[in-house]
Amino acid sequence: MRKQRLLEQLAAAERRCADVQERARREAAESARLRDAIEALPHAVVVCDAGGSIVLRNRRSLDLEGGRHAAALVERAVEEVVAAGGGVRPVTQTLELRGPPPRTLEVMGTPLGRADRASGTVVLVDDVSELRRLEAVRRDFVANVSHELRTPVGAMGLLAETLADERDPDVMRRLATRITAEAERAGRLIDGLLDLSRIEAAGSQGEAAVALASVIEAAVERVGNLAEGLGVVLVAEPLAVDAMVAGDEEQLISALVNLLENAVKYSDTQSAVEVRTAAPSPGWADIVVRDRGIGIPAKDLERIFERFYRVDRARSRETGGTGLGLSIVRHVATNHGGDVLVESQEGIGSTFTLRLPTIDLVRHA
Ligand code: ADP
Repeated sequence: MRKQRLLEQLAAAERRCADVQERARREAAESARLRDAIEALPHAVVVCDAGGSIVLRNRRSLDLEGGRHAAALVERAVEEVVAAGGGVRPVTQTLELRGPPPRTLEVMGTPLGRADRASGTVVLVDDVSELRRLEAVRRDFVANVSHELRTPVGAMGLLAETLADERDPDVMRRLATRITAEAERAGRLIDGLLDLSRIEAAGSQGEAAVALASVIEAAVERVGNLAEGLGVVLVAEPLAVDAMVAGDEEQLISALVNLLENAVKYSDTQSAVEVRTAAPSPGWADIVVRDRGIGIPAKDLERIFERFYRVDRARSRETGGTGLGLSIVRHVATNHGGDVLVESQEGIGSTFTLRLPTIDLVRHA
């Protein structure tokens, strides 16, 4: 009888022991999984207990880029955030590291557990430099667009006011013509912005095999009227390379149209603009547009691909320029894994090269 009870007690103890072991195994697995999850996060993570001592941290929090000085600053910010939050409220501190490269880090402390029974703080260090840069680019862009649009819209307003008080039919006609020109300018700006955003959004999607020959043919045709109107001779040389590139034909045509329009606009009457192809190295093809126009000062060459950048605002305005053409060309080149290069000399002329990776015809046949 007694032996029976002892055996039962023993079996119960064994079961409890197995339960405890199972629970410990599950807890160990869960803790390993949590640790792996913290390691997998793209942020530096530091976990502190209720007293503020570090109990867990991932590898990213130990090897922060920027050397010892940056690491010490981050370490101090983590301590400050934990102390300021006191394990009960979230605290964020922004840290500007001078670099190089300069970086902006956000150190965010969040209390763990319930507000009345805090068990510690988890601190996340997030590198927000790229985000901040993009925010600044967007702010600049909006400011630039508003400024660029205000000019023609303001001019239209003034011209219309003058027109309202005018009785002389000749002057009225002249004012109306100028209003139309300003409206066209605003329209070109909007079209350019729409093109740019479409090309930016499209990226390198819509990949098809495109023959350079057909891109050149279409672009030359579209610029034909402008060239004729300005008395500039457009010469398409026989193809040196009849390559295919992977991409979007409309984008490529629009890039070449922009280069050709510039070459024509910034040339004098009777000068020639040439477009030709070349093979700079295996797997690459160039479309080269050469003019003998006004050229670009060396100091501006770096900046002409920026949105709204114009070397000579007065001349560009005269020619109806928006400063968006070359940024469209650069985007198209990048979307196709290529580049756009420029060589220019004031008073001599400019050569723009659209360099693109070619594709194997057999693969895409
Ligand atoms: P825009 O609409 O003003 O022509 P782009 O972005 O196409 O704008 O070009 C930027 C600036 O670069 C132009 O304003 C012009 O000053 C200069 N530029 C571009 N192409 C040429 C060229 N072929 N010859 C001389 N200057 C050029």
